[in-house]
Amino acid sequence: MDLTRWLSTRRRTPPHDSHPGPWSSSQATSVERLPTPTRDGGQGLRLFRHLLGAFASLLVVAIVYLYAAAGRVDFAVAHGFALLAALGVLVFTVCIATGFNRRFADPSLTGAQMMTSGLALAYLAYAASDFRSLQLPFYMVALLFGAFRLSIRQQLAISVYFVASFAAAMAASGTGMQGMPRQGAPSGWLLTVHLALLLVLMSLIGGYVNSVRARLRTTNGKLQQALEKIERIATYDELTGLYNRRIIHQMAAKETKRAQRNGSSLCVAMLDADHFKRFNDQYGHAAGDEVLRMLSRCLQGTLRESEYVGRYGGEEFLIVLPETTPERAQAPLQRLRQAIGSAPIEGLPGDVRVTVSIGVTEHHRGEDIQATIKRADAALYQAKHEGRDRVVWAKG
Ligand code: GH3
Ligand code: MG
Ligand code: MG
Repeated sequence: MDLTRWLSTRRRTPPHDSHPGPWSSSQATSVERLPTPTRDGGQGLRLFRHLLGAFASLLVVAIVYLYAAAGRVDFAVAHGFALLAALGVLVFTVCIATGFNRRFADPSLTGAQMMTSGLALAYLAYAASDFRSLQLPFYMVALLFGAFRLSIRQQLAISVYFVASFAAAMAASGTGMQGMPRQGAPSGWLLTVHLALLLVLMSLIGGYVNSVRARLRTTNGKLQQALEKIERIATYDELTGLYNRRIIHQMAAKETKRAQRNGSSLCVAMLDADHFKRFNDQYGHAAGDEVLRMLSRCLQGTLRESEYVGRYGGEEFLIVLPETTPERAQAPLQRLRQAIGSAPIEGLPGDVRVTVSIGVTEHHRGEDIQATIKRADAALYQAKHEGRDRVVWAKG
């Protein structure tokens, strides 16, 4: 599994906490614009894998020096091998640190890094004839890195390159392929076949590991999408794209706490479509849905960025107006009522209009949000009784 992707998924905050606010754009689409899971585009993971490879190279160099100290490898050869390994590490570190690696089809540069280590190993096979049979496991380590990224076919291709460069290095060396550097040491041919078989085995295992990893990645992506969908469903009302009842209630509660902390005033309004049932009965349920969408558009178009709205029930909407005094709440709510009352409804005769009634109240210090909403609701019902299509202020 992709580690950084997994970690960033775990760190994600719920969308309503980090949400830019309902008016900046369509609420429903803002969840889709959440940051991509790997924020650095996977560079961190690439560098981590490369440094893991660098550490493996360091250990291999240490082993070669161990044999140099035991007199089985020339120190000059060990130095040369160490230099090649260090150069390889340096080049790829710079490539990844500067972002140059992004220019390549595979920005992890896995194949290139493996081939570079193959080059250093070929040098060792060429220069340290006594050490050849002992360096075979190093090829296994190099190929292991392919399991992060390469398919079986690609791993086999790298294996062919490893075997060919190993054989060529031996053929080019003074001892040649038939050479027996020490009594009882295996011939170059034997070592080549030995290496080829080992690498085929490793490629198959590594390719399998990679395919499992790729499957996990796909599953992870699907889970991520499902999670985003669940978040969207849990946050927004499907029909209007506005916050659902649970979220607008949370927002209202959060704003009351903030108002209490800051000593600022906060108003809450309840809006309800007038005679909506009649409208449904006359024009059909689909037309009723269109009215709800029109209400949503008017709400989003009229209120300010700092204000929140959610669908509280069937044709009822809860509006939260932070840092707003009762005097300042009146004008925008009247504007909203007028905008709705003059908005045409898609798919219906041009003269068909829907009016709304609004009940509004101010939140009192120390009061539970539920009590504030109840008062706004009472004002709404008063508006209905007084003849609808009006804004009624609840005092008390
Ligand atoms: P009032 O002016 O007193 O508010 O009358 P009203 O008809 O608007 O209120 P009532 O509560 O009697 O009816 C509300 C109707 O809203 C009933 C229900 O069928 C309808 N409704 C609720 N949700 C939806 C919805 O998602 N789509 C549609 N088309 N209708 C809905
Ligand atoms: Mg109604
Ligand atoms: Mg109602």
